[in-house]
Amino acid sequence: MPFAVRMKKQPIVAPKGTFDILPQDFPYWDRLEEAIKKVAASYGFKRIETPIIEHTDLFVRGVGNFTDIVGKEMYSFKTKGDDELSLRPEGTAPVIRAYIQNGMDNMPRPVKLFYVGPMFRHENPQAGRFREFHQFGIEAIGSSNPVLDAQAIKMFFSLMEELKLKNKFFVKVNSIGDRTCRPKYISALKSYYKSQQGKLCPDCRKKIATNPLRIFDCKNEKCTRVSLQAPNILDYLCDECNAHFKQVLDYLDELGVTYLLDTKLARGLDYYTKTVFEFYPEANSAEGGKTNALGGGGRYDYLVELLGGKPVPALGMAIGLERIIGLMKQEKVKLAMPKEERVFLIQLGDMARKKSLGIFEELRKNKIMVEEAFSKDSIKAQLKTAAKNGANIALILGQKEAIDDNIIVRDMQSGIQETIPLHKLLGELKKRFKEQAA
Ligand SMILES: [Zn+2]
Ligand SMILES: [Zn+2]
Repeated sequence: MPFAVRMKKQPIVAPKGTFDILPQDFPYWDRLEEAIKKVAASYGFKRIETPIIEHTDLFVRGVGNFTDIVGKEMYSFKTKGDDELSLRPEGTAPVIRAYIQNGMDNMPRPVKLFYVGPMFRHENPQAGRFREFHQFGIEAIGSSNPVLDAQAIKMFFSLMEELKLKNKFFVKVNSIGDRTCRPKYISALKSYYKSQQGKLCPDCRKKIATNPLRIFDCKNEKCTRVSLQAPNILDYLCDECNAHFKQVLDYLDELGVTYLLDTKLARGLDYYTKTVFEFYPEANSAEGGKTNALGGGGRYDYLVELLGGKPVPALGMAIGLERIIGLMKQEKVKLAMPKEERVFLIQLGDMARKKSLGIFEELRKNKIMVEEAFSKDSIKAQLKTAAKNGANIALILGQKEAIDDNIIVRDMQSGIQETIPLHKLLGELKKRFKEQAA
C-alpha cells in the first residue's frame, strides 16, 4: 500500500473548552433568547452588542490586573498593527466603554442595557464551564437607588419563571462597601490573614497583599478554617453603605426573593462596590453537589469614572447560558413550537421545479412557513421529508399541474388531496389554517 494512502489524516477537533451548538440544540437556545428578550424588555432594558475583541487595557483598567480573569485567563494577543487586544472575558467593561464612547451619558438615567453573546476565559474546562461560554447580562447606569439592585436580582428569578423551570433558585447577597469603608475593612482583613499566614496555602499567602478578599474563595480546608474567623464586612460598613444594603434586603423581601446573606461573598472582579450577589439552583443534582453559581453581579459605582466617563453609579448582572440550557434539557422544558402551519412544497419534473421556485417565494412573502426539497426528484422521497418535517399540508406540482396552472393540496394527516387553480392557493391555505386554528 502506498504511503500516502496508509497515512490517514487526523480529523481536526474544536479547541479544548469550546463546543458546537448543533441544529438539535438550537430550539433550546432560541427559546432561551426569546425569554431573555421578553424579560429584559419588560424591565425596560434595551439591547446592545459590543465587539468580541477589545483593547487589553480596557480589562486591565476595568476588571483589575490582580484578578484571575485578567491575570491568568485572558486570551490576549498582539495584532499585525501592534495593537494589544483581548477576547472579551466579561461584558461589563465593554458595555461601559460603549456607553462612554457613544455619548450615552447624555441620555435620561438610568441607562438600561442588556447583551447576549460569547465570552472567553482560559480556565480549566469542567462540568458546565467552558473557555468559550455565553452570557446574558444587564447594566443599569446612572443611579445608586437600591431598588435597581433588588430589581436586577429579581430579573434572574423572572427569567427562570419565564422558562417555566421547576427547579428552585436562591441568591446569595452581601455588601462589600465603598471608598469610605472598604479600605478599613481590607486593612483589617490583611492584618488578620498576616497573623495567620502560616496556616494558609502558598497561593493564598500571595493574595494577602494583592487581593485578600479572594482568600474567601479558596477551597483548601485549612484556608477555609482560617477564613471562618476573619473580620466580618458588615461590622465595617459606613452608615451610607449600611442603609443602602438594608434597603436592598427590604426590597428583596417585598419582591418575595429567597436570599441568603453571605458575608464571605466578594466576587472575582475588582470593580464591585456595595451590593454583590450570586445565583444558585436549590437542587444541584447535575453536578453531584458541586455548586457553581449560575450567574451574579453587583454594583460598580466607580467603574464608569475609572474608564474615563462622567462619574455615575451603576450596577449589573450576568447569567451563564450553558448551565441554564443544561437545566432546560434536564427538565425537558416545553419549547414553544412555531404556531404557523407547516407547508411542504413538492415538485416533479423540470418545468414544475422551475415554477415551484416562484411559488415558494410568493408563499414566503405572504408569511406562510413553507419548506421544500428542490434537490430531490422522486415524489416518494419528498413526501417522506415532508412527513419527517412535521408538515400539515403538502403542495404537489407535477408536469400536468404546471402546464394547467393548477396545484395539488394534500392534507398530510388524512391523505385527502384536491387539485385547485394556482391563483387560489394563497386563499385556500389561509382558509385551511383558520379552520385548523378554530
Ligand atoms: Zn488557600
Ligand atoms: Zn461605605
